[in-house]
Amino acid sequence: MSYGIHWFRRDLRVAGNVALQKQFKKHDGRVVGIFCFDKKFLARDDFSVNRFQFFLETLRELKKELRAIGSDLLLMDVGPDQAFKLLFEQMNKTGVDLPSTISWSRDYEPFAVERDDRMKKFFDKMGVDNFDERDHLLIEPHELEKGKGEGYQVYSPFARKWLSLYESDEIQARVKLYKKGFTYLRKLEKGDAEKVFKLTWKKLFNGKMDIEDHLDEYIRENLKKVDVEIPPSGSVVAWKKILDFKKKIDEYGDKRDFPQLDGTSKLSMYLKNGSITVPQIIAVFDLEPYQKKSSGRDVYLSELIWREFYYHILARFPNVEHESFLEKYRDLKWGNNKKWFEAWKEGKTGFPIVDAGMRELKETGWMHNRVRMIVASFLTKDLLIDWKWGEKYFMDKLLDGDLAPNNGGWQWAASTGCDPQPYFRIFNPWLQSKKFDPDGVYIKKFVPELANEDPKNLHQPIIGHHSYPAPIVDHSIQRDLALLMYKEV
Ligand SMILES: Cc1cc2nc3c(=O)[nH]c(=O)nc-3n(C[C@H](O)[C@H](O)[C@H](O)COP(=O)(O)OP(=O)(O)OC[C@H]3O[C@@H](n4cnc5c(N)ncnc54)[C@H](O)[C@@H]3O)c2cc1C
Repeated sequence: MSYGIHWFRRDLRVAGNVALQKQFKKHDGRVVGIFCFDKKFLARDDFSVNRFQFFLETLRELKKELRAIGSDLLLMDVGPDQAFKLLFEQMNKTGVDLPSTISWSRDYEPFAVERDDRMKKFFDKMGVDNFDERDHLLIEPHELEKGKGEGYQVYSPFARKWLSLYESDEIQARVKLYKKGFTYLRKLEKGDAEKVFKLTWKKLFNGKMDIEDHLDEYIRENLKKVDVEIPPSGSVVAWKKILDFKKKIDEYGDKRDFPQLDGTSKLSMYLKNGSITVPQIIAVFDLEPYQKKSSGRDVYLSELIWREFYYHILARFPNVEHESFLEKYRDLKWGNNKKWFEAWKEGKTGFPIVDAGMRELKETGWMHNRVRMIVASFLTKDLLIDWKWGEKYFMDKLLDGDLAPNNGGWQWAASTGCDPQPYFRIFNPWLQSKKFDPDGVYIKKFVPELANEDPKNLHQPIIGHHSYPAPIVDHSIQRDLALLMYKEV
């Protein structure tokens, strides 16, 4: 009888998983899932123990979910090249037919594109039918082009084109498809999901498979190294978060810039693992084709478009992973003062808003977007430290660390990216904190040694405090040095 394997990667969910659903239909529910964990990943530059824990726990939730609906997930602890080879060998040995189809969801990171091309060739060589599908983007990079198939480099025309496609019947039909998944999530939440899948790994191998799954062991071992609280994971949690945020979305435009207000959706880490996707969020909120008003919904949609924009850039210009998008800024003469970098990482720069942000990051694995912009501008244009150092540190700490928006955010702040803020627009950290945390509520939460300070003192240098440092640099002097550095190239 025919059956399929869905190869999960960063699409860790069932609802709204287009490739998985196609497989389900093709094989009347006889589909199992696999995840291949390559240990080389642990040595990667952008590896993070905390994010890995969140990822593993999301995988565990997915496995539970798949089992509850009659399927299963196998974690193989080798990379996909070896994993599928081993699996196929095992199948041949035990007289199990190779899968009729293998599917996966498209990924746009350079290493993933290369891996998927390679695996496709392997499946073709083995004579196994295979296909991939769109997943976490509503409109994919190849669907958006100008002129002779070129990619966009500037957000506004990109957003205009994105919105014109969004209003088309084709994309609106796409959005509608996702609504069906919500009934399933509601049932799953109540524990009422039906066993609609009809295949498990055990059934497939008649109990004769000797590949062990070490997921629980990985979770236990990695947990020993984790130093932040890991939030609950999985699609149902993400779904509930969306429903909570639905009550607040109309105020998003007014509140999203104030870190003390809890005015944003905090969905980024769920988007990273694919517990939920942008198309699903758009479907939940019924985000009407953009009206260009300043309602919370429009602003929220525009942020989701920023996410799609940064994926577009990464897919179209993969070199941004390693260098500035703007060629002229590849030779900037950064100061790269290591002592200052340590002070920035530790939240001890003497600039309360910067320190609050950096401590929030270290203590929770997340940081508010406005503060991300402030600390990134501060690192590059006040401390004159290479944006790549900041990008790497963020990837180490962020639970939502994601190459495309992280690289995009850093290159935007450093003015080296596509459509960045101009190099001469330099955030004044004192004015930023006065504007966005006037009463110092956010600052005092993460910098407790300033808890008794009069709020107005938090937006100017604090000298002679018994436990809080004086500013490590003078903003106006550093600003001039930054301007010089940019002008020189
Ligand atoms: C220097 C810097 C580094 C960043 N690194 C990351 C990162 O590693 N991973 C990441 O997901 N986001 C990153 N961002 C973007 C943004 O800060 C986060 O997406 C946002 O803070 C997540 O919180 P939220 O889910 O509550 O966002 P909300 O305000 O509720 O927004 C909803 C969603 O829209 C998307 N979004 C919002 N703002 C942006 C933006 N400026 N750029 C791209 N997408 C956006 C995110 O997917 C977010 O979850 C970075 C921004 C900067 C300035």
